[in-house]
Amino acid sequence: MIKPIVEIDGDEMARIVWHWVKERLIEPFVELKVEYYDLHIKIRDETNDRITIEAAEAIKRVGVGVKCATITPNAERVKEYGLKREWRSPNATIREILDGTIFRAPIVIRSVIPAVRFWKKPIVVARHAFGDIYSGTGIRFDDIGEAEIVYRSRLGREIRVKIGVFPGPGVLQAYYNLDRSIESFARAVFKYALMNNLDVWFAAKETISKVYDARFKEVFQEVFEGEFKEIFNEKGLKYEYYLIDDAYARAIRSEGGFVWAAKNYDGDVLSDMIAAAYSGSLAMMTSELLSPEAHYMSEAAHGTVQRHYYRYLKGEKTSTNPTAIIFAWSRALKRRGELDGSSELIEFAHTLEEAVKKTIEVDRVVTQDIAKVMEGQPSLVATTEEFIESIRKNLEHLYYHRLRGL
Ligand code: NAP
Ligand code: MG
Repeated sequence: MIKPIVEIDGDEMARIVWHWVKERLIEPFVELKVEYYDLHIKIRDETNDRITIEAAEAIKRVGVGVKCATITPNAERVKEYGLKREWRSPNATIREILDGTIFRAPIVIRSVIPAVRFWKKPIVVARHAFGDIYSGTGIRFDDIGEAEIVYRSRLGREIRVKIGVFPGPGVLQAYYNLDRSIESFARAVFKYALMNNLDVWFAAKETISKVYDARFKEVFQEVFEGEFKEIFNEKGLKYEYYLIDDAYARAIRSEGGFVWAAKNYDGDVLSDMIAAAYSGSLAMMTSELLSPEAHYMSEAAHGTVQRHYYRYLKGEKTSTNPTAIIFAWSRALKRRGELDGSSELIEFAHTLEEAVKKTIEVDRVVTQDIAKVMEGQPSLVATTEEFIESIRKNLEHLYYHRLRGL
């Protein structure tokens, strides 16, 4: 039996494109069972954001979700939509409830040549989105002085370490992480790699950070040896730990095709760098969230594409790239198919991705953002709807051929 996919609707241009993709590229081809959650900013406001929590709980229940980009409100948005308050980022809420890790990968297209000419396959960046400097604390001091760190356990036991004696003004920072969070991260990374048949790299700087980074390295090694080593061996996959500077140098010389697990800050920087080096467009990236229990959600890496939406509202045609939204759907369908043993869904997901690639690589029909980065001339810089129509034609052709076994 095929279970539903949790469909999480969003805002602005991403929402418009979302519905075009669903109506034109998915519903005509597969019987789609969804559990629908509308995270439109007004509905989050009306429900005091309960809808976001319900959507995340639904993913826990059925295992697979697909999410459209949503507005994370700031003061401006509160005014624009007359909101009660600046609701949290839905992505942060969902990630927290699922305890998930985000995997970002470029969608590799032959006519869009990466900045690094050796790269043939995607480098998937897994970012540990917990702790470190993102929940760190800083002090700026303006005098001669000294500092120490004190840890006090609930039982009152204390650990005290001197940070340093300072001859004058300066800054200092403290931050932390939790074993449990690092373990979840490692587990999600190894699971994702198994699902996608990829090697895993983890990189840090334990030669310098002898307690902090060393603990990350240790936890990764423990989780790997305890839970994944055997199956990795069986599948011929590898886990490698590298010093982070070594990893950067190796990555540049590699042909890609691995998961790079990175600490929070490293992953923040690395994912933008990898995105820019492959195509420079967030619309040419996949973004998948996987929890340690293997709950799964895919989404587009970009936002709601606000500027295009305002043009759309004025009746103008935009050239918004739907590729990341299409891949969000194809990956969710594939995952559903794998979990429920539906080769039809898996096959369709694969064919849908192929239809997108054929449209760009062979037909050279592209949206304006791809036109800027592709090799050679496009045959058409299309509006969003024209682009989707070209994909639909390719999809029909590929899919019905396949169905008839041709
Ligand atoms: P954005 O929606 O990613 O768009 C930034 C710019 O990138 C666009 O103006 C456009 O450039 C280009 N772009 C992004 N996606 C594109 C696509 N599919 N096709 C073509 N071009 C694309 O980021 P933003 O404008 O900074 O944020 C808008 C809203 O999205 C915010 O309210 C933010 O909270 C939200 N957001 C949500 C998520 C999420 O839900 N995952 C993530 C990020 C941001 P040009 O205008 O130059 O064509
Ligand atoms: Mg970043």
